[in-house]
Amino acid sequence: DQSAVVAPSDPSVKVVVRIRPASWRERGQDRTVRKVSVNSLSVGERSFGFDSVVDTSSTQEDIFQLVGVPLVKNSLAGFNTSILAYGQTGSGKTYTMWGPPSAMLEGHSASSNQGIVPRIFHMLFEEFDREQQNSDGKQINFQCRCSFLEIYNGQIGDLLDPTQRNLQINDDTKNVLFVENLTEEYVNNYDDVTQVLVKGLSNRKVGATSVNSKSSRSHIIFNFVVESWCKCVDAHLVLQNDLQGNSSKSISRSKISRISLIDLAGSDRNKLDDANKQCAKESKSVKKSLSQLGHLVRILGENKQSRGPKDMPYQSSCLTHLLQESLGGNAKLSVICAISPVEKCLSETLSTLRFGLRVK
Ligand code: ADP
Ligand code: MG
Repeated sequence: DQSAVVAPSDPSVKVVVRIRPASWRERGQDRTVRKVSVNSLSVGERSFGFDSVVDTSSTQEDIFQLVGVPLVKNSLAGFNTSILAYGQTGSGKTYTMWGPPSAMLEGHSASSNQGIVPRIFHMLFEEFDREQQNSDGKQINFQCRCSFLEIYNGQIGDLLDPTQRNLQINDDTKNVLFVENLTEEYVNNYDDVTQVLVKGLSNRKVGATSVNSKSSRSHIIFNFVVESWCKCVDAHLVLQNDLQGNSSKSISRSKISRISLIDLAGSDRNKLDDANKQCAKESKSVKKSLSQLGHLVRILGENKQSRGPKDMPYQSSCLTHLLQESLGGNAKLSVICAISPVEKCLSETLSTLRFGLRVK
């Protein structure tokens, strides 16, 4: 009964473009990218349309309102939801998704530069509290657990336990995919989540913004699973039981929804030291997984109903395989294309915009 809850106007794949401000080093350079309207931008003479475009004047709260609030609403309605941040190294993916770790540790405030992810969990736990208080006669329980992983060179590493490398994907008796031995943390509130986030991010951090750093060549995925039970008295059963002279029992309903938050490796096509063998191998692995992801997301955006999971190219890479649970079935995805405003990044910017257009 999920489909009845959310407005049908909310598409299954939504693409938002964020233009970051020029850095101090870029001040004075030619700006080729401009926001034209709420859903279009121009690059030189060319213009492009998306679901939304935000520019350098947008705050972290603005982008949360655009992408995060609908995610929380869809998640509460029982949909699986995901956000993918795509773009070249230095375009603002990490800033947009998580924001600075210090801002997370300072606690929640609308005006801080916290990223979308901590804001999502702040709102989600507030909504859980509200639902628990509002549930007249019903008893709702939530249980939340999360994991945080990295895909580097086609291998899965545990960001919550960096000693665990090269983990394997498997499926259980119900055909639900899981990563063997991946750490799962149970979380009860916003502070619990931010602690897990900060810990995971600190394990990724190897020279955060250099084009050749490891972080620009790894995908990271934060997975959050909410299981909720509602104990309620079913009116229909009450009537039947009364007619049969039985006492009425409450029935229990449960649902599970997943939230996957993904900060992709830099989409840069020409990294500076591809001449180095190891880097060339890594960047080939990243390019391949990003193009397979683009292909998968495009198919998802087309009419999904006609396809079973077997028709989807999930197995094409480690990244798409891991996203099978969160993107399959009745899922909502937002893609954030992060771009730089300056001329020097033009070819990478156009490539990122093409990815965004391709998945729509
Ligand atoms: P990426 O993860 O895409 O490689 P980052 O998120 O690390 O890029 O951003 C690169 C730099 O630009 C960082 O220093 C970051 O703080 C800054 N930055 C990115 N987007 C913004 C923004 N919207 N406002 C202010 N600073 C930003
Ligand atoms: Mg980054």
